Amino acid sequence: MINVFQPSLGEQELAAVREVFESCWIGKGSRVAAFEAAFAAHLGAAPEQVMSTNSCTEATFMAMELLGVGPGDEVVLPTVCFVGTANAVAAHGARPVFCDVDPRTLNATAEHVAARLNPATKAVILLHYGGYPGQVAEVAELCRDRGVKLVEDAANAQASRAGGRACGTFGDVGVWSFDHGKIAVAVDGGMLYARDPELAGRARKLAYFGLEQTSGYDQAMRAQTRWWDFEISSFGRRSVMNDVLAAIGHVQLGKLGDFVARRREVVAAYDEALRGVPGLLTPPPLPDGHETSFYLYWVQLAPGLRDLVARRLYERGIYTTFRYPQLHRVRAYGADDVALPGAEHAAAVTLCLPLHQGLGDRDVEFVSTALVEAAAGRRGDTPDGQVA
Ligand SMILES: *Cc1c(COP(=O)(O)O)cnc(C)c1O
Repeated sequence: MINVFQPSLGEQELAAVREVFESCWIGKGSRVAAFEAAFAAHLGAAPEQVMSTNSCTEATFMAMELLGVGPGDEVVLPTVCFVGTANAVAAHGARPVFCDVDPRTLNATAEHVAARLNPATKAVILLHYGGYPGQVAEVAELCRDRGVKLVEDAANAQASRAGGRACGTFGDVGVWSFDHGKIAVAVDGGMLYARDPELAGRARKLAYFGLEQTSGYDQAMRAQTRWWDFEISSFGRRSVMNDVLAAIGHVQLGKLGDFVARRREVVAAYDEALRGVPGLLTPPPLPDGHETSFYLYWVQLAPGLRDLVARRLYERGIYTTFRYPQLHRVRAYGADDVALPGAEHAAAVTLCLPLHQGLGDRDVEFVSTALVEAAAGRRGDTPDGQVA
């Protein structure tokens, strides 16, 4: 089978893990600090502004706590977004308010966000769909003007930039994922950026039970106090990364540029093979000054044809998927029944193709050819004889 997502891990990562094992320190330590510093440098942020977590979802939950999101608050986010992101809002007693997205880019525009703002809006969460920055600068300006906090879900956007600025650093808080399905992986893990270093400092405490930094052994010895005493400043959980995962993530971060370069080639090959195929749309071009991480590659087919094509590709050993099914359709969120036509359309016609740096030229050719054939097949021509 050809996977939709696939990590590229090898000897360097194994060697880094071996080194951690041999150090006898596998918990949060020097490798976590080194990975955080490297990621801060990658973002062009100060080290104090960046902190690792055990997952991006956890970082998003923490973002809600840091920004004081709670009962009575509304948080606007695109309906095409990750379930954990909306859960972060709802779990804090706030109401997720879903906005529409552009049917071609699947990103929420400033206009989509603005349409859902009201005096109860405490924050906006913006997803960079597939790693494409979208109107991040415009949304950031809108949020500043309206006195609303901005959180960027940059899980898809490890290497994305707009106007030279890293996605995830336009707003108040940004979160990234290094889970097994992302581009650079740490097996599991996340990063959190806070523009205000004071907020990042609170995040660090929150990530470890809310413990106030106790004095270390040496300090306690000098002061003749006990090093095991503690005080807490908040009721935090345990959200920290560890040195095993950080060692892997750090090696992977060093390869991120190469990974993205290969993904760019794969995307160019898909574009070349699929552009102009009747009844099939490829992703819109990237605006000037935008850099994407090429996390997702999506095509758009006639409604009804999309599901059929997905099944036909699966039969030929090709996994495909749709990211992200509309959250306003999830009953548990209790969304109002506002019309979100861009998202509705996108959800009916969009199919994400395999995209990872491990794909060879022949794989891309095979997928492209199989897709064109599947899309050209007569409607209703399903193996079980049912009309799609
Ligand atoms: C992967 C992903 C997350 C969650 O990341 P985890 O590290 O798995 O918690 C959040 N948002 C988006 C858009 C993602 O793709």
